[in-house]
Amino acid sequence: MKKKENPEKSGSVIITRQEHGISRKLMSPNALRILYRLKDNGYVAYLVGGCVRDLLLGREPKDFDVVTNATPGEVKRMFRNCRLVGRRFRLAHLHFHEELIEVATFRSQAADEPKPEIEEKRGRENRERHPQMLMNDDGMILRDNVYGTPEEDALRRDFTVNALAYDIADFSIIDFAGGIADLNAGIIRTIGDPAVRFQEDPVRMLRAVRFAAKLGFTMEEETRKALVSAAGTIVSASPPRLYEEMLKILLSGEGAKCCELLRQTGLFAALFPFFSAWLDAESEGFPHTRFGEMLTSVDSLVQQGDTVSPPLLLALLFGEYLEEKAANFRAKGAPWQQSIDAATAEFLGEVCPFVQIANRVGLALREIIAQQGRLKLIPGRRPQAFIARKDFGDIIAYCRITRGDMKDVAARLEWWLAEAAEQESLPLPKRTEETGATPLKKKRRRRRKPHGSPQSTQ
Ligand code: ATP
Ligand code: MG
Repeated sequence: MKKKENPEKSGSVIITRQEHGISRKLMSPNALRILYRLKDNGYVAYLVGGCVRDLLLGREPKDFDVVTNATPGEVKRMFRNCRLVGRRFRLAHLHFHEELIEVATFRSQAADEPKPEIEEKRGRENRERHPQMLMNDDGMILRDNVYGTPEEDALRRDFTVNALAYDIADFSIIDFAGGIADLNAGIIRTIGDPAVRFQEDPVRMLRAVRFAAKLGFTMEEETRKALVSAAGTIVSASPPRLYEEMLKILLSGEGAKCCELLRQTGLFAALFPFFSAWLDAESEGFPHTRFGEMLTSVDSLVQQGDTVSPPLLLALLFGEYLEEKAANFRAKGAPWQQSIDAATAEFLGEVCPFVQIANRVGLALREIIAQQGRLKLIPGRRPQAFIARKDFGDIIAYCRITRGDMKDVAARLEWWLAEAAEQESLPLPKRTEETGATPLKKKRRRRRKPHGSPQSTQ
């Protein structure tokens, strides 16, 4: 791939249509429609971020993001299927049948001084750049809400390979940060000083790990050093965001590789201090190997396109730890169910201050661990009700993946699956039309005898 300095945009390199292999056929038709409409209305419009990176690597992008110099209000006026979201930084969400495309206005990160007004391209209107990036005392960005130029927009992004833009005006790729060279060399490198960039947003450390593992890239040396020394600060990011990011990591199809990197860099120990210490220790002379095996199993499921629900994911990865905790409670005299409740509560108490597992996911996790015992009983108590549970598939999958290689477990699972298949072939009970729910059985009411009747006075 050849590169040319762009005389118009200082510091950027343009890769022309003839010099790169991206075809519009590989792009979302909806994203293309948006780009064309913006362009036809006189605006600058680019595809940006992960989709350009993935297209250049010959991978299928997860989503397509658009940036433009149109303001969110202008975008809204152009598209009927547009909803503006975000209170601080307004973004346009364009809704299609099965796709949502985000259209953002070029944003800047620079905010040290109040910015002068900038002339909008093509003189539509003067737009004020609001000096609204707010940092806390540790240099972490709390608010980031400044319109900017295409270059500023690229340079506020996390990694060089994530800052490439595809310009619909001439189908070229604009590289403001050296992303093409890093993409060709397979390198994850922060834009700017890595220590500063990780301080601004510690979640970027997890993103660095995810992209390195997923793309099979290496982390550039300075980026890696800065990450290792800042690893402990990861816990200053918000716990719900860390949970979302951990889900992305564990369900990326490269969870095993990611976790290896997380452990090497100290991020894992910072995020899961109790579990990490337990993993490094042994129980009764045996190392804890199930976590590693489960990461590999989850990766194969994801790679073959299976869905792994968050509760099943957590049960698979932390099940051995939870079961050991529950066994300890039982050894102290707690009954079965109580031991699972206490073990789950203890586990959530350890993890949630850093990585906030949503409440309903925690409850569902507990159910998978607790309900697996019911599979041991054949035919079992009320098998139909058990099979009808929403999480029946997850409970079966948990047993199959963790213990399915044991002969007796395999035989029992077979029985339950045959039973479930038979139940599925039975006609469903009538459902109410509007809600899809099975109507509740009406209780038979005995007619009240009128007061004063001879029988009622007995
Ligand atoms: P994928 O969607 O495949 O996980 P992506 O690179 O598209 O990867 P997104 O989370 O969809 O990641 O974000 C889109 C783009 O927004 C990124 O490519 C990057 O340019 C920018 N971005 C996302 N998160 C950050 C962040 N924390 N700091 C700076 N830039 C970010
Ligand atoms: Mg993306």
